[in-house]
Amino acid sequence: MRIVLLGPPGAGKGTQCKRIVDRYSLLHLSSGDILREQRAASTELGKKAKSYMDSGGLVPDDLIVEMMADAISEAPSAGFVLDGFPRTVNQAAELDNSLALAGQKIDTVLNLKIDDQLVAQRMTGRRSCPKCGAVYHIENLKPEVKGICDNDGTRLIQRPDDSLEVVANRLKTYHRQTEPVVDYYKTSLGSPGVCDIDADGDADAVTALMFESLDALVKS
Ligand code: AMP
Repeated sequence: MRIVLLGPPGAGKGTQCKRIVDRYSLLHLSSGDILREQRAASTELGKKAKSYMDSGGLVPDDLIVEMMADAISEAPSAGFVLDGFPRTVNQAAELDNSLALAGQKIDTVLNLKIDDQLVAQRMTGRRSCPKCGAVYHIENLKPEVKGICDNDGTRLIQRPDDSLEVVANRLKTYHRQTEPVVDYYKTSLGSPGVCDIDADGDADAVTALMFESLDALVKS
């Protein structure tokens, strides 16, 4: 199965992808995670991506398309779930072209739909531990001691791209550049190939909806 998971930042794509890959034994390919690894390793790509990421804009298509084509070429035959990619119609078209060269195509697109205000509330309240990576929320998932990581006592931080200004910019970028990707797939795969999932609810409810669609695909 080759799956694309679409949805705005903060819709829970990362969490849901992990659950999908566990259930169907697929590879999880997150463009955001790969870019963060590139930055941590101070590669040329990581350095080029930094300013775009910190402002909430998109890294240029040519850099992303090449990076993801490399990652996809290492995916197992069981397939993969793409998380955060494609984010522009051009990226989606380039992805289709490179899959076609290998005689492959995207089977289904899951489109997480969530209210902007809920996204902003989720993301700006997020705090993470710079040491162990644990993620908390100032209202929904509080640490035992305010501002301190339960695991190792480190002071929690807010990721720069979770600040109100950057979140607003990321949402604007999503509506302007990524939402058209849904229509691109509705045209290229036909409406049944794109499944809208209500992501306003809690993570388990969203997972149940996704598994329902994917189980139907596996049986068909
Ligand atoms: P994410 O963790 O998926 O929200 O990605 C974090 C940041 O990485 C985004 O705000 C973008 O700056 C950049 N990024 C991730 N995926 C892409 C993509 N497919 N195209 C362009 N930029 C991306």
